[in-house]
Amino acid sequence: MTSERPTYHELARRWKALRATHDVRVREVACVGAPRTLLCAELGDPALPIVTIAAGVHGDEPAGALALLALVVDRALDPRFSYRLWPCTNPTGFDLGTRTSADGTDLNRTFGRGGSSPEARAIVTANRDRRYALALDLHEDDEAEGFYCYAYGDGGIGEAIVDAVRAAGAPCDPRGCLRPDPHAEAEALGGLSLSLLLRRNAAERTLTLESPSQRDLSERIATHVVAVRAALSQTTVK
Ligand SMILES: [Zn+2]
Repeated sequence: MTSERPTYHELARRWKALRATHDVRVREVACVGAPRTLLCAELGDPALPIVTIAAGVHGDEPAGALALLALVVDRALDPRFSYRLWPCTNPTGFDLGTRTSADGTDLNRTFGRGGSSPEARAIVTANRDRRYALALDLHEDDEAEGFYCYAYGDGGIGEAIVDAVRAAGAPCDPRGCLRPDPHAEAEALGGLSLSLLLRRNAAERTLTLESPSQRDLSERIATHVVAVRAALSQTTVK
């Protein structure tokens, strides 16, 4: 895995190339009302419990998107689950290197009421009636000293994820695992994030994982890889 930041076109090309080498279904989902699509990748036996992982909703946080690709390329996702992956939920922001989309929208406030951005609507529509054993959203924080996470109904796995990151030798932020009240959080954000939406109606355990964006990109990618793998290994299957 290169630690150079690719363009969105290149990121999408790498995902589509996996169709030839990996057992992964990669499709483009239309964003109604905007001239763009989102990639959706699915793998594993659909009869297994489903895990959903999203990355890149903030375009200036590329490490999550690159970590998610690396996890699939390296076949590092736990085979006890099947997966619905959103490789980059803000393609225009990814290319612009901005938190917002090209429309100037912080997409991670637009997941309420069926989705109030074209990107959120596409995801909400595709998720309809789906239930997930675990939902992860991969972010970065430019003020963090190290890794930390937000956990919503996580069944206590948040601390184990932080411990796994620390055990791997990566720095952790003093915040560790935060468990904000979902209602107060939605109020403070002024809208629903993807994690809050999934916690509300679709996922048993939901976590937002934050890597420290002041560290090297390769280090942040590695941190997310460790954190995702820990989240999966800590998730019990009924
Ligand atoms: Zn973010």
